[in-house]
Amino acid sequence: AALDAVETREQDVQALLQVSADLALERAAATDAARAAGAPLGPLAGVPVAVKDNMHLVGTRTTCASHMLERYESTFTATCVQRLIDAGATPVGKANMDEFAFGSSTESSAFHPTLNPWDTERVPGGSSGGSAASVASGEVTVALGSDTGGSIRQPASLCGVVGMKPTYGAVSRYGVVAFGSSLDQVGPFGRRVEDVALAMNALVSGGRDPYDSTSQDCPVDFLAHLEDPVGGRCVGVVPELMEAAGLTDEVRRAVERAGRALVDQGAELVEVELPHVASAIAAYYVIAPCEAFSNLARFDGVRYGYQEPGCATLAEQTSLSRARGFGEEAKRRQLLGAYLLSSGVYERYYYPAQQVRTLITQDYERAWERCDVILMPASPRTAFKLGEISDPTQMYASDLFTISANIAGNGAVSVPLGLGDATHLPVSAQLQGPAFKDRTLLTFARAIE
Ligand code: GLN
Repeated sequence: AALDAVETREQDVQALLQVSADLALERAAATDAARAAGAPLGPLAGVPVAVKDNMHLVGTRTTCASHMLERYESTFTATCVQRLIDAGATPVGKANMDEFAFGSSTESSAFHPTLNPWDTERVPGGSSGGSAASVASGEVTVALGSDTGGSIRQPASLCGVVGMKPTYGAVSRYGVVAFGSSLDQVGPFGRRVEDVALAMNALVSGGRDPYDSTSQDCPVDFLAHLEDPVGGRCVGVVPELMEAAGLTDEVRRAVERAGRALVDQGAELVEVELPHVASAIAAYYVIAPCEAFSNLARFDGVRYGYQEPGCATLAEQTSLSRARGFGEEAKRRQLLGAYLLSSGVYERYYYPAQQVRTLITQDYERAWERCDVILMPASPRTAFKLGEISDPTQMYASDLFTISANIAGNGAVSVPLGLGDATHLPVSAQLQGPAFKDRTLLTFARAIE
């Protein structure tokens, strides 16, 4: 059924870079055989999933939507993907993305943009736009994305689905092509909070992954606490964020409605402060490009990916392979990272950015003394048109509300709240919580969906 849905919807949405039909049919047959034999079935038995194309899956290419890795065959399967498979899921394809996850619209894919299923003249958000669109269009039930600065939550918001960035370390990054290693986190998309809870259970079951030194044990209890009452619990609201420039009125009204829904269920709204969050984008666009420059140095035209033929010297081979293999935004990020890490410049930008990171983390710690979760917007606006945002710094502002959770490492989820009263496109709210309290996030998410 998922392959049929892909067949009919893919021409409009273009969410996938590869459809792994043979793999999917093989998995489906194995599930059928297990059921016929009376063998126990996993909690995700038969559930079709899409996997962002920066995650390895044996039997597929992992391209990161880049010419650099256009022909790169996965040699192993990422832990996150394997855990969904172990729970019974059936991967049906690799989802489109911004090249190497740099972007907020999926327009920087080297192959083609993905279109928003709600309005195909608009972007699905990014960088995990293919994952979000594949769930929103009904091609698959669950998708995996990665979130370095908002790349799960912002596309979830623009496509009207649930998208969760768990706490840094909750889900293994082993087998996920690194962008910003101190910020990257894998998480699921689903149409409903319950689907995301099921996927989270699968992603954390098996415990700490010895192949990712930052991975930690998490209880497999996302589903068990979904219906817990929110009455008597505290929801933080940050007044400055609700008045932020760029936030549209319809999104603000939707978030306010979600706040009222929580109050109606007995929760208490309290004002909290995150005074340094206004500097999160500035700090991120120092830290993330530096880490990206370091991580992408491995694409040297020798070890992985595209190799320019006929070069006279190794230096020429490296520079021409990189010049032709990477797209414009990937080059911009790496040049920025190279500059920011150079001596004399490092002290002026990288070091202060890390100080801002500490201040933001401390802001959150103070806020968690007063509330269980913080309610805020996820994306400042609804889906924009393809080509509408051409200035990179304007694109970077898409993550105004999401980046701080990557900076501090805590978990966050974007929850769809129907259609906006002005644009009639999906609007959402974001819930953020203390580190490793991701289960609480889903309880509150369930209460507002
Ligand atoms: N939009 C942000 C960026 O371009 C975040 C991307 C991401 O989370 N992968 O860096």
